[in-house]
Amino acid sequence: MPRAVITGAAGFIGSHLADALIRRGYSVVGIDNLLTGDRANIAHLDGRDFTFVEHDVTNGIAVEGEVGLVLHWASPASPIDYLEHPIPTLKVGALGTHNALGLAKAKRARFVLASTSEVYGDPLEHPQRETYWGNVNPIGPRGVYDEAKRFAEAMTIAYHRFHGLDTKIVRIFNTYGPRMRVRDGRAVPNFIAQALSGEDVTVYGSGDQTRSFCFISDLVDGVVRLAESDLNEPVNIGNPAELTVLDIARAIIAATGSRSRIVHHPLPVDDPRVRRPDIALARARLGWEPRVALGDGLAATIEYFRRKLAAGA
Ligand code: UDP
Repeated sequence: MPRAVITGAAGFIGSHLADALIRRGYSVVGIDNLLTGDRANIAHLDGRDFTFVEHDVTNGIAVEGEVGLVLHWASPASPIDYLEHPIPTLKVGALGTHNALGLAKAKRARFVLASTSEVYGDPLEHPQRETYWGNVNPIGPRGVYDEAKRFAEAMTIAYHRFHGLDTKIVRIFNTYGPRMRVRDGRAVPNFIAQALSGEDVTVYGSGDQTRSFCFISDLVDGVVRLAESDLNEPVNIGNPAELTVLDIARAIIAATGSRSRIVHHPLPVDDPRVRRPDIALARARLGWEPRVALGDGLAATIEYFRRKLAAGA
């Protein structure tokens, strides 16, 4: 049975990756320091082929036995989290990535890095292809995340070139779905929690900035295809359907049947104006494209948030 290690396994995406790999017959070791992760996301894996280790991968990673695949997902990923934890964000992207690559090298395992559309910064090319180098402010508030991930990509490709490690880099665009935290701070969970509670829906700036939202099951499908592919260069995984933030706020208010009003708050510093993945590479090399329509993805996510809020989250 193949064995996989997932760092950040108690997080939103990490926990869904654990589910997908277990379904595919992997035995999974999940590591998380629970800074932004939550044991509740993996509680259902008790009794399955899953071992949880509470640990900060910044301080080194020790796993006994054979490992065939390492997925490095540990990192704060919501802007409010990396603003609150700037140094742990830099450390897990830099030192944590080095440690996860070291584990993969010692085990001769495949390695997948969770990178991000944030490597493109506030992009001057639209939509973003993998060949675009980005427009990032290194000393802005988002720099702690963006530059850590850019360093992580450089480290990952160096292990591929210098040590011959079979590495993959996935540039994840905005993703949403069940297991996002009610107080996650990102647009979709904020808007759903606000709409369900009858609170004002907080659109930052005018709301004409754009994002492209991918449902979690599509994202995980893309990552698994990449992990099992022979690709080593970075690949965008995201949904190319581009919406303004105002559009997504209105769609969520309609889908929840809420009477919430939209209010405008100041736009955060360096908030990207536009974002949309070019997914030609994933289509051609992984046979991947998103399948879940926004309405269906939102319905599943809203249902999850309803239950969470009813349980007092
Ligand atoms: N946003 C918003 N209201 C919120 C949270 C986010 O208008 O309550 C905006 C944010 O300014 C950005 C977009 O929604 O333009 C997506 O933000 P998110 O934090 O989800 O992720 P980002 O794509 O910025 O990393």
